[in-house]
Amino acid sequence: MTKRRSFLKKITAASVGLGNLAALRPAFANPAPQAKKPVVVSTWRHGLAANEAAWKVLSKGGRALDAVEAGVMVTEAEDNLSVGYGGLPDRDGRVTLDACIMDENGECGAVACLEEIMHPISVARLVMEKTPHVMLVGEGAQEFALSQGFKKENLLTERSKKAWKEWLKEAEYKPIINIENHDTIGMLALDEEGNLSGACTTSGLAYKMHGRVGDSPIIGAGLFIDNEVGAATATGMGEAIVKICGAHLIVELMRQGYSPQEACEVAIKRISKQKNAKDIQIGFLALGKNGEVGSYALQKGFDYATYADGKNQMTDVGSFYR
Ligand code: ASP
Repeated sequence: MTKRRSFLKKITAASVGLGNLAALRPAFANPAPQAKKPVVVSTWRHGLAANEAAWKVLSKGGRALDAVEAGVMVTEAEDNLSVGYGGLPDRDGRVTLDACIMDENGECGAVACLEEIMHPISVARLVMEKTPHVMLVGEGAQEFALSQGFKKENLLTERSKKAWKEWLKEAEYKPIINIENHDTIGMLALDEEGNLSGACTTSGLAYKMHGRVGDSPIIGAGLFIDNEVGAATATGMGEAIVKICGAHLIVELMRQGYSPQEACEVAIKRISKQKNAKDIQIGFLALGKNGEVGSYALQKGFDYATYADGKNQMTDVGSFYR
């Protein structure tokens, strides 16, 4: 109890401003234990199946970048309502996908508002590897994907079409992410070599305005990797995450000596000050260079999957509003 109270006191002090971090650093600094590797973590229950695919790469000594791409591709191809195929459309009935990927060298690629392409994460990787750019959007992203051999596919399933038609009956434009309405996959991996990479992919907010882009394809918001320090990813109401550069903030806090858990808690506390914080959900997930995992959410209901030591399991996450 006392430990918890003094931790909360430190959090409050930390939230006053970045100037206080240096003073707090000794209190937070943990001696880095032997790195636990490989390890892969990913948001929500669909992370279990995604982790299986990532683990196949990691357990053979493969690269974290290949693991995260293979992992989230599983979720993109599943008929679910929030990532890739079957994702809920925007308010005009168009499925528009956002994704980004980042490697151990700080290289990154992203696509936003990409239509009719099943695997936006692989397009994001090619933006990183084959263009001098970081992000392509809309038609330009689709043209690039087609030039790389991707095929156009209809991603609007009967189920998501039906849900959209239902929504249209009473359509009121009130984009709110509550605990039932989100499910981006963000995945972070540490490979045998001790290198970190991450991937994040989503169909975004259901029934959004056409052209709306959230945090998920934004490097520093939905995903950030710093191979010296750690990695972070996000899910939930993208606008709130973008406003604090969520994933980058968490990694920078880890650089200052905060553990992955502490860094996620500070970032959530920062979001709790935004004006609509009580009505939205945000979940952060972080992985330290030493394999330590941390996670925190604004509301109850967030969970994540970890595959380490040959075991793939779910963890329920603590929340700011209990
Ligand atoms: N973060 C995603 C977005 O705002 C949605 C989600 O995670 O559910 O587009």
